[in-house]
Formats: sequence, structure tokens, C-alpha cells
Amino acid sequence: MLRTGVGWSAREGEGDVRTHGRTDVSAFEETNYYLGKAFAALKLDPRFEVMLRTPAREIKVEVVIVMDDGSIGNFIGYRIQHDDSRGPFKGGLRYHPGVEPEEVRSLASLMTWKTSVIDVPFGGAKGGITCDPHALSRREKQRLTRAFVDSLHDMVGPYVDIPAPDMGTGPQEMAWFMDQYDQHHGFEPGVVTGKPVDLFGSPGRSAATGRGVMLCVREHLAREGKQLGDCTYVLQGFGNVGSWAARLIHDAGGRVLAVSDVHGGIHDPEGLDIPAVWEATCSTGSCTNYEGVASIDNEALLELPCDVLIPAALGGVLHEGNAPRIQARIVAEGANHPTRPAADELLSARGCVFLPDILCNAGGVTVSYFEWVQNVQKFPWTEELVNERLEEKMVKGYASVAEAAERHGVDLRTAAFMVAIRRVADATRKLGRGGL
Ligand code: NAD
Repeated sequence: MLRTGVGWSAREGEGDVRTHGRTDVSAFEETNYYLGKAFAALKLDPRFEVMLRTPAREIKVEVVIVMDDGSIGNFIGYRIQHDDSRGPFKGGLRYHPGVEPEEVRSLASLMTWKTSVIDVPFGGAKGGITCDPHALSRREKQRLTRAFVDSLHDMVGPYVDIPAPDMGTGPQEMAWFMDQYDQHHGFEPGVVTGKPVDLFGSPGRSAATGRGVMLCVREHLAREGKQLGDCTYVLQGFGNVGSWAARLIHDAGGRVLAVSDVHGGIHDPEGLDIPAVWEATCSTGSCTNYEGVASIDNEALLELPCDVLIPAALGGVLHEGNAPRIQARIVAEGANHPTRPAADELLSARGCVFLPDILCNAGGVTVSYFEWVQNVQKFPWTEELVNERLEEKMVKGYASVAEAAERHGVDLRTAAFMVAIRRVADATRKLGRGGL
């Protein structure tokens, strides 16, 4: 891969579909490529760019636990704190075999821009443990989470850095995290968000990211004079984000043609009965066990004709290898960093519109902020209030990005980074960081 003066191009022979087209270019470099485009359009003092690309702190710890069979498990955990000029560091905690520092760095940076573009008073961070959560028992996962907290409890906290669930983690891991933090610092439920609702979590949090995706798509379609019910949808990933987005889009009359999970996908050109697919997924563990419809693999699913493609699983799934075959006219990025720059450029040139991850999947961190507010004020909100305020934030966030795109003549991704960078740069300058 080459980053050229005119854009992002692939050297001949590079890129492979099965490796998601990954080459020697890291996810962090790719995020910085998108950032660079926005910095260039903003014409900011170049000193900001250096400061705002570099993470503030990187923590790497060995996490040692006794496994159920008595053996010792050695795992590596990361927490990368990117920027806290607009508020405490904030970002998910991922348990996945693919967790590695360059990707965590990229995701930490994306969190800085996400919290800024949606305008919640947090910075950006990300963390994770390189492990296969499906190969661990519940007790092993609990020991792993508690040992991880023991390693870094002094570097997180409700006013320092606030983790949340991500791939492979959920409310249960957050409850263990909160409890272990309590052993060191006393009762502080605001140390993590995404907790169980009856243990200082927020109503509406589990649906929030998928709801935000639906709202972002709705707002974009409205600018085209369309409604959710006028379009067809394909989703990769039927976990937290994908299943909620699919259910809410289906409720609004949208025709969901295909969904998938790690085991594969299902497809019905007439539209899937999403509530029934969800029921089958809950009772059997995979959407692929839903009967009476065609099967489709995860690669072919991305290439189906549809109005809106929603990648809601892994990063890097749209790349130079499959971009020429993608037929969707809108890509709503439920996952973080699902689109590699070469695919972004190729598809954008063809008129495909990207609703960028830092805006499209910001519903989760928005409701995480509401959860944190409820925790620090010790005053719970109703689900109606949470959903109402989430809608306000998503509508305003989309409008500010669409307006910036129009004003500067750039795509929505560049506009989203421009809005976000301007706010972070303003805070950095007003705080006088780096002597600026
Ligand atoms: P999840 O673990 O609940 O679901 C992930 C889904 O992806 C599952 O259906 C899983 O089977 C599927 N999947 C895993 N590997 C796959 C593969 N190789 N091919 C196809 N599908 C595969 O995770 P989630 O919380 O829904 O997160 C999904 C994405 O959204 C991630 O990129 C995450 O970073 C991002 N995200 C999540 C949130 C949130 O609040 N949960 C917020 C912002 C962004």
C-alpha cells in the first residue's frame, strides 16, 4: 500500500480478500490517513496534527490467572489513552484473539473523534485483552477481568478513564470491573459504563449503538427525501450493534435482506422476518440456524445489491479486494473502522456515501455518557428520557456533519473528522497544552 500525494492506492498484487486486504499498513496508520485529509482541509497550525495523532499514554500489562484445570494462563492486556482535553478518557474494552497494539491505538484515536463529533465531554481511549473469550469459562473470564483491573486500577477512574463493553465483553465484565475497582478505591460505579441496568447501568444502553445507527441512516435518508421504510438493508454482524439496528430498522418498515454472524449469513430477497430471526438467534446461538431461507457467506453478503450496507462486526471488511463488487449506495458504519482507505476512495468515487463510524456508531458512547451522569448524580433516568436525549444528540451530530460537508465540499467522513478535530484543537489551545 502506498499513501500517495493524491490519495490511497494499492501496489499491484497487494491485498487479499481472505486477509481483508491487510498488508503492512496498520489500522492506526489508516486512521491517521483519514485524519490527515481532515487536517489538510482545516488548514490548522501543523503542531496540532502532531499532538493530536499521538496517544497520551499506552499501558501494556501481563495478566496472569489460574485456569480452571490448574494451569497458568498468561494474557496480554492493553489500555491506550489517546486524548483527554475534552474530558476523561473514554472507550471500550475488547476481549478478542486479534487484539494488538496498533489496532487498539487506532480505536483509541477514533474514540477521541467520536466523543467530540457527538459532543459528549469525554476524550478517547481503548483497551483489550488478547484472548479468545469463547474458549474461557465464566470463572476464568471473571478472574481475567479482576486481574486486569488489579494491574491498572490507578490509571482509570470516573474522572480519569472510563472503560465500557466492546467485542467480547458486556454488562457482566463491567460489573466485575466495577467490583474489583471498588476493592481498591471504594464505591465508584462511574468507573465503567455499560453495566447491568440493575447494577448502576442505564436503561437503553444495550440498544443505544444500534439505535444510533438507525437514527443516523434515518437522518441521511431524510435529506434524500426518503424514509427508512423505502429502502433495503444488509447487515454483517448480528450481535449487539447489528441485531438492534436490524430490529429497529425492521420496526420502522425497512426491508432487511440479509444478516450474518461469525458462523455465516442468511438471505431472503423478499426481506427477513427479523423478530423471528432474533428469536432463533437467542435460542440457538446463531442466526444461521433460522430455517426456510437461503444461506450466504460473509464475503458474498457484503456484495449483495441493497440500498444500505451496515458492517456491524469487524474492522477492515471493505477493502480494495472487494470494493469493486460492493453494490450498496450507502454504507452505514456500525463497526469501528470497517472501511479501508482504498475502498473508501474507490466507492466514494462511484457515488457511494459513507456514514462514518465516528458518527454512525456514536450512540453507544452517548448513552454511556448518560449512564455516567446518572452514576455521578446518583439519579436514574427513565428509558424514554435516555432515548429522547440520544435522538437529540444523533440528529444534531448528523446535521453538524452534513452542514460541514456542504460548506467545505467534502465527504461526510472528512467532515466528521473536521468537526471533531476543530473541537479538540480548540480545547487543547484553550488549556494551553503543549505550550500552544
Ligand atoms: P458483539 O460481540 O455483540 O457482536 C459481534 C457480531 O459480529 C456477532 O454477531 C459475531 O458473531 C459477529 N462476528 C464476529 N466475527 C465475525 C466475522 N469474522 N465475520 C462476520 N461476523 C463476525 O459486538 P458488538 O458490540 O455488536 O460490536 C460490533 C462492532 O461494533 C465492533 O466493531 C465494535 O467495536 C463496534 N461498536 C460497538 C459498540 C457497542 O456499544 N457495542 C459501540 C460502537 C462500536
